[in-house]
Amino acid sequence: MSNELVLDTRFRAALRRMQDAQRLQAVTGQVSTEFEIASMMKQLDGGPALLFNDIEGHDLPIVGNLLCCRENVEAAFGTDFRVLRSFITRALGGPIEPVEVSHAPCQQVVLKTGFDLGKLLPVLRHAPGDGGRFITAGVVICRDPDSGVCNASYHRLQVVGPDRLGIKLDYGRHLRLAFERAQKLGQALPIAICLGTDIALQYTAATMGSQLPENMDELAVAGGLSGRALPITQGITVPLPVPAETEIVIEGFIQPSETISEGPFGEFVGFAAPAAPAPVIVVSAVTHRRKPIYPAINGYGRETVMLRKYVLEASLLKAVQPAVPIVVDADMTAGGLHRFHAIIQVKKTLPTHEGLQRNAMLAAFAALKDLDLVIVVDDDIDIRDWNDVEYALATRMEASRDLIVIPEARGHEYVRAGRNGIRAKLGIDATVPPEERERFTRVAFKQVEIERHRLCFDRDVIDRSLME
Ligand code: MN
Repeated sequence: MSNELVLDTRFRAALRRMQDAQRLQAVTGQVSTEFEIASMMKQLDGGPALLFNDIEGHDLPIVGNLLCCRENVEAAFGTDFRVLRSFITRALGGPIEPVEVSHAPCQQVVLKTGFDLGKLLPVLRHAPGDGGRFITAGVVICRDPDSGVCNASYHRLQVVGPDRLGIKLDYGRHLRLAFERAQKLGQALPIAICLGTDIALQYTAATMGSQLPENMDELAVAGGLSGRALPITQGITVPLPVPAETEIVIEGFIQPSETISEGPFGEFVGFAAPAAPAPVIVVSAVTHRRKPIYPAINGYGRETVMLRKYVLEASLLKAVQPAVPIVVDADMTAGGLHRFHAIIQVKKTLPTHEGLQRNAMLAAFAALKDLDLVIVVDDDIDIRDWNDVEYALATRMEASRDLIVIPEARGHEYVRAGRNGIRAKLGIDATVPPEERERFTRVAFKQVEIERHRLCFDRDVIDRSLME
């Protein structure tokens, strides 16, 4: 694990490191883009990334479940998650402008006419309830027509014709705002969709606008994350920078006034988003490496939420620690989709620290709009072991005093238990006051080196005791 100040976040370098760490597994035998690959990705979710080499009717290999778990992420970035989080914090405050390079593998092959997206790319049909075939791992780059600032963000794209895509543009997202500004001018908005691109850019593109203000360029923040300028080249048919080493780039224009019916599609919260009108992209060119790899992400899969986990944790700590210095760590849990639930660890050493754990809850809710549940625990609780967190709830939380409910606050619109995003926040104080800490100290056993003993299932060894 490297503690260098620079990370090599190129897509191919990440794949090689994952291969070396046995976090990239090849699937042998022919597989179909119709439901089969998405289903295998779901069944093997949270494990090593999957490389599908033999796709029915297609030449390109597919990589799935790439950054779907901590082990894959650590192998891909070549560092552990704590260092990665510190790099993210650095990036949020220290962007590095991209640099134009002359060597651009992403344009080794250039197609300006005669292409058919559905034939060219092994686009998956994910779940039987879906409205069609969706490109899900596309980082969409645009330039704001007013400010000129570049933006990069993930959007699902439905293939609706040989050179046409429907694009899901949630309200309030930066690409949506840029699109609306172009719309007002009666202009189409140029975009570049990057498939299989620098993993630092994947992280910054997945970060919602609240973590990165609109005037911050995600390409520069990606440079800040890796510690070196992102190498870019100019698009062939669009005036936009594209990361030079990207596997596949789809260039095109979001039409100002045309819509199609997009969806349904299985979303990250586990429900199918219904079909709805969506803007249309007319594709002007596809460029790619000589032998590109096509990436796929399941909408309702671990990678979708893992792409944000460490960015959100870094943002949470960046906001909460200066306000409440007793906070030592935070984990956004898998069950809460790395977005809705946080476990916060505090270290209270002085009587005057009592109560600050509740200030920490409030700071957390203020920092991340979508947080619905915050559990605060002491520093002897392992926040990455749910059994230990539940132990804190079982032994240190008194429900009549320690549940703090903040009614009618704003959360995420997709949470169906809420009312269009209006939902109560719940804070659980599972800490003990510093002066009571001794009474809550857990029994400690003498340290023994377990390696000095041989453990076995040998029948004769066990029989020595069981034989009557
Ligand atoms: Mn943005």
